[in-house]
Amino acid sequence: MSIASLRDVLGPAKSGGYGIVGFVVLGWEDALAYVAAAEALKSPIILQAGPGFRRHMPVEVSGPMFRHLAETASVPIVCHIDHATSLEECVAGIDHGFSSVMYDGSRLSVDENIARTATVVEYARRHGASVEGEIGFVGYDSGEESEMTIPGDAARLASEAELDALAVSVGNVHLQQKKKANINLQRLAEIEAAAACPLVIHGASGVPAKMRRHLATQTGVCKLNIGTEFRQCFGDTLRTVLATESSLFDRIAILDRTRQPLQAIAERAIENLRL
Ligand SMILES: [Zn+2]
Repeated sequence: MSIASLRDVLGPAKSGGYGIVGFVVLGWEDALAYVAAAEALKSPIILQAGPGFRRHMPVEVSGPMFRHLAETASVPIVCHIDHATSLEECVAGIDHGFSSVMYDGSRLSVDENIARTATVVEYARRHGASVEGEIGFVGYDSGEESEMTIPGDAARLASEAELDALAVSVGNVHLQQKKKANINLQRLAEIEAAAACPLVIHGASGVPAKMRRHLATQTGVCKLNIGTEFRQCFGDTLRTVLATESSLFDRIAILDRTRQPLQAIAERAIENLRL
């Protein structure tokens, strides 16, 4: 049994100077590939169910699925709800087996964000689950603009809501298909000095590998969420398989072909965050 919370894996990561990948899961095959990568490298990982995946597969199904993967793995695995915007979503996730939630109050005023995040933390604590919050706003490529995190706000949310992890906006952007994020290390250092909490970078697909490694090994960033990079690998692999193996028609056989390439880049992503 190796189901873990963010507290279990981010504390050691922070003191040990390495980072943990938050894998954005979209189905069974990619989840298997990420767990296989974690086991091959004997590394903890975080499996994340984001809003799109939760619309595709209800938490009543994904909760037990994630839990089964964690409980049969030989390494610690955090089963995490990503970007929940209501207490109800967090409660549903925790009640169906998730060991961790991200409550995203980044569109609210700072006071409201703190108050609502604290309510989520209260429920999560009673059930042994961990909570990640967000302050500032991590925008979207070709979509909503980012708002840089203000260190004083980060300190307030982290301490008043007693967070286990805090997502910050320091130049990182969601859904970037190219490695073009420009991380503001000065602002990150100010946030780190103000808020004693493991920090999280969303949109790490857009962050160059060298910078990801720097963030994980030299700063207070302990969790880096990666989604787009793996979705690109899945799509590219699928296109190649269908183009080159014209007799394939079985869903299981087709999707199985994506596992090995996904596992290979997942292993590289995990390794890159270690010293
Ligand atoms: Zn995010």
